[in-house]
Amino acid sequence: MAQGSHIQDFYNRVLSLSGKSHGLRATCEQICRNLLLSFSVQDATLVVADGSGWKTLLTIDDTGINYRSPPIKSQDTKVLSLYQLNQAMQLQVATLTEQDNTYRLSLPLERRSRIIGCFIADFPKNVVSRQFKAKDFSFLGVLLASELNASMTDAIIQDEHSGRRIAERELQIRQNEQLSVQKLLQALHDISFKLWRAQSIDNLLFTAVDEAKKKLNIDRMAIFLFRGVDRVLGTYGTDIHGNTVDEHYFETEISELWFSVHALENKEYLAIKENTPLYHDLQVVGFGWSAYISLWDEDTPIGWIACDNLLSGMPLPGHLHQLLKQFGFIVSQHLVRRQAEEKLIQLNTELEQRVAERTQALQQANEKLEKVSREDPLTQVANRRQFDERFLDEWRRAERHSLPISLLIIDVDHFKDYNDSFGHAAGDQCLKIIATTLAPLERRAGALFARYGGEEFILLLPGQDQHAAQYAAKRALEAIRELALPRGTQNGDTTNIVTISLGGCTIIPSSRRSADAFFKLADSALYEAKSCGRNQLFMINEMAES
Ligand code: GH3
Ligand code: MG
Ligand code: MG
Repeated sequence: MAQGSHIQDFYNRVLSLSGKSHGLRATCEQICRNLLLSFSVQDATLVVADGSGWKTLLTIDDTGINYRSPPIKSQDTKVLSLYQLNQAMQLQVATLTEQDNTYRLSLPLERRSRIIGCFIADFPKNVVSRQFKAKDFSFLGVLLASELNASMTDAIIQDEHSGRRIAERELQIRQNEQLSVQKLLQALHDISFKLWRAQSIDNLLFTAVDEAKKKLNIDRMAIFLFRGVDRVLGTYGTDIHGNTVDEHYFETEISELWFSVHALENKEYLAIKENTPLYHDLQVVGFGWSAYISLWDEDTPIGWIACDNLLSGMPLPGHLHQLLKQFGFIVSQHLVRRQAEEKLIQLNTELEQRVAERTQALQQANEKLEKVSREDPLTQVANRRQFDERFLDEWRRAERHSLPISLLIIDVDHFKDYNDSFGHAAGDQCLKIIATTLAPLERRAGALFARYGGEEFILLLPGQDQHAAQYAAKRALEAIRELALPRGTQNGDTTNIVTISLGGCTIIPSSRRSADAFFKLADSALYEAKSCGRNQLFMINEMAES
């Protein structure tokens, strides 16, 4: 068969099928099959540029046509040496090189002045004639180059697509992370606000544990506070089912906890251990990550917050480190502020209590003083001071309302003799008895019974007229007589019991007479009673006079 018709046949077949084949692989395999058919080519290699090196996309050898996707490194191919390949490339045009039994066709594949691959095929000498030309295959080169280029472009586009998809996915992940961190920061803010509003330290600790678990997505959390330098106490924690529980019963040595010495020495805020035993009441209850956040008052450690993933086993998210530190800082601040406040409140309460106690004592002392200053110490009836005050008040009141006012001056008869007979102490007792007897006799509003001095008493009767005064005097005289206290030495009087004499006066005050003058009138009446033999009343009727 003539050489020209071989080539013609070959192209006819390739072109008739190329329109129907899809993709690089189908085209390449089609070409190879037709090279076999038309030229009995049994050794061929198609290499493609890959960065600065070459990769083998297809070979024809003893085993048949081998298309490799993805292409493999060129060193692996036995068919072609790198030297030969580079030689073919340098020439940049289709060349035929005579070998022992074959003509080697080197077909550089060029696209837009760039070599993108090379097709090398060995044509057996016995099949091709001398007129066989390299340039006959230039068109094959163009065909392969355009297929290769299209496929590479496709791959690049796909690469770009998938790259973009990856970038978009990453962006989405970042955005989600950012959103969740933002949410957590907002949650921290919310928790801080709730801690600020807590009514007590106890409530603050409960809220911190309960809210942090809910809002920061932590399985278990517990807060421990130090007692002294070596003990640590539980406050609120989480049981193995996730419930927030009171753990005030818990107490242990600080040194018994794994992180304690290191964290305290290095003033670390956060200590985390992964794949570690998890404890509840010092008993191992599972495995997971365990984090301890230190609570500080300035440079002094005051406690710890412990948390872990016992319930969900969720891995420790990267952002949680920073978040937990921040949470520890917030809890520390609220706790320290609250402790200072409560101390201040306690101090204030103590101070208020002391002030109240003092005030009460002072009040009692004042009351006592007031009473003492207005009371006769021997007889415990009103003293002269009280009488003087009241007398003037009542005088003015009676004057304002034009009401009568009566006054009885009472004097114990021969009291000197009593003292002389029984002694001064017995005299005091006697005065006491007389006062206790006379004081309750007159109970009308405004009436005042007082010790005026010595063995003299006074009965002030505001608003009462002469009859009332006389009636009161009569009852007084009788009451003392009824006491029948022995008087001692006889003194010419008919009786030898203790008696009293009364001088009385009733008046409606006016500007014509002063209170003092009114008193003197009563006193003069008393003098009259004494003169008339004692143990009686003498009444001056001033009203009748006016
Ligand atoms: P008369 O009937 O004239 O009033 O006679 P009298 O002895 O009561 O009057 P006098 O004024 O001479 O004496 C009053 C006495 O009362 C003198 C004093 O020792 C006594 N006396 C005054 N105050 C007290 C007192 O507080 N306790 C005692 N035990 N005696 C008193
Ligand atoms: Mg007297
Ligand atoms: Mg007397």
